[in-house]
Amino acid sequence: PQVATSGAEIRQAKLDVRHIIAIASGKGGVGKSTTAANIALALAGKNLRVGLLDADVYGPSVPILFGLTHKPESDGKIIQPITAYGIKLMSIGFLIDSNTAMVWRGPMVMSAITQMLKDVDWGSLDVLVVDMPPGTGDAQLTMAQQTRLSGAVIVSTPQDIALADARRGVAMFRKVDVPILGVVENMSYFCCPNCGTRTDIFGHGGAEAEAERLGVAFLGEIPLHARVRELSDAGTPIVAVEPESEHAKAYSAIADMI
Ligand code: ADP
Repeated sequence: PQVATSGAEIRQAKLDVRHIIAIASGKGGVGKSTTAANIALALAGKNLRVGLLDADVYGPSVPILFGLTHKPESDGKIIQPITAYGIKLMSIGFLIDSNTAMVWRGPMVMSAITQMLKDVDWGSLDVLVVDMPPGTGDAQLTMAQQTRLSGAVIVSTPQDIALADARRGVAMFRKVDVPILGVVENMSYFCCPNCGTRTDIFGHGGAEAEAERLGVAFLGEIPLHARVRELSDAGTPIVAVEPESEHAKAYSAIADMI
């Protein structure tokens, strides 16, 4: 690890990252973490050096998504990220007991995220994907303001209620001059694996229409599919283990656009 030895820089690993990209959503449960993990893996599949920072301190998903339970190594100053499927990972879930209910005030969220950015030996990266905490509160705003973000991707389901939150997300990033890379529609539709019938469970096309209204890019749609959920729960994200599947290709197409 590159550890500075004097002055204010003490305890600080050098952050040598070309692009920091935030994956955000107005509300929880829309698939933000699943999207962040699979986009990070898709970017790594394009020969980029990728890190994934799980900044969702309210509900860290990276330990589950990557099936990791061990603690990262640390010399007491610098924490080593955990590498899985070729990407470097850090999550608050690696550092605290996952069963502990964490009550985070805004400044605590900020300092936890700052620590994961600065005290982790990320090495040299092309892209650091940040799985943001859901919502558009003070903590998220400060985070967007204080992290040198290249851009933000907003994940939403097609439902109006999720889109209203996505709108707030776009407004928040605009407020702090972070470019919006675009909107992803997750859980876009469902194809029955038995009969092939397509059902638009949460509606369809809402995010694309909203992106157009907001004047931001539409990055693509990810259908609802049991395999995405199963592989996520098994700690083997779909892009890592079934890269040729239709779903993995959908994530890869989004990675191409950002
Ligand atoms: P968030 O980060 O927005 O809270 P998650 O990524 O944790 O959401 O996703 C919530 C749940 O939905 C998880 O169980 C995840 O596996 C599942 N999920 C997300 N996207 C899909 C999809 N396209 N198809 C099927 N299940 C999905």
